[in-house]
Amino acid sequence: MNDLFSVTIRGCRGSYAKPGSQTIRYGGNTTCIEVRIADCLIILDAGTGIVSLGQELVEKHKSTGVPIVANIFFTHIHHDHTEGFPFFEPAYFQSTTLNIFGPNTFSKALIDVLSHAMLPPYFPVEFFEMKSKKQVQELSDGDMVALCPHKGVPKEIHTHGEKYDRSNNDIILRVLHGYSHPKGGIYIYSVAYNGKKMVFATDTEGYTGGDQRLIRFAKGADLLIHDCQFTTETYVNPATPRQGWGHSTVEMAVDVAKKAGVGRLVLTHHDPNDNDEKVDMKESQAKELFDSVECAREGAVYNL
Ligand SMILES: [Zn+2]
Ligand SMILES: [Zn+2]
Repeated sequence: MNDLFSVTIRGCRGSYAKPGSQTIRYGGNTTCIEVRIADCLIILDAGTGIVSLGQELVEKHKSTGVPIVANIFFTHIHHDHTEGFPFFEPAYFQSTTLNIFGPNTFSKALIDVLSHAMLPPYFPVEFFEMKSKKQVQELSDGDMVALCPHKGVPKEIHTHGEKYDRSNNDIILRVLHGYSHPKGGIYIYSVAYNGKKMVFATDTEGYTGGDQRLIRFAKGADLLIHDCQFTTETYVNPATPRQGWGHSTVEMAVDVAKKAGVGRLVLTHHDPNDNDEKVDMKESQAKELFDSVECAREGAVYNL
């Protein structure tokens, strides 16, 4: 059995892309996480980090002739999580299949929102002009998507409360609607396979005593990738008030990791104002509070 379960950070910069000499070690691309499980490709968010992934997929496709199949899950549709999508090269190949999932928390359907972001005159190509086969599916809080690890495609989508046969050994993706991010909140995803689990909780702000729903959702995860845009000093500084912006501090992220008993914590959505040294500082602060923690770096791979 192919039991590969790897998670690659493709982009971990928050709010807007910040390339340059000051962000060279952690990277300047906005949010995108590549998850490979057996023969299945799952992409969490499509910030500018998705662009290089797309180029690599196309290169491989050209050398092997194997069509590209990707399952893209959006946490929410803020610009820094969608802006790479129009530049995702596989989307322009007729042989590509894209299964796109995202929140139903917006008054417009996900497909309208994605199409709107690419509408002329803002962008030269429309969503439907991308030649790939695209299935767009809205998800709700509590939903579960089963993906076939060997075909790499969605098999079943179960809404909250429906029974699912766990003996299938599918990849199971679950949705938690987090409410602590402006205008509609975000979707937190867990991806589980073969006894291993990762949770992706970006663009979320902590609560006093920890986000109890998230703690329950992330219980026992091998890997938790959690928002940590701010140090506490920035968050509470009256000159730079950040409360209510929908992002966490080191303490908030560590609190969830500890209470959920996760194996490893990776801090993401780095503030675009923070250079590499400032992110190093955030990492040292976190290491004082939790053993297995680090700041996300573009290109870092976690094998579960
Ligand atoms: Zn964001
Ligand atoms: Zn956001």
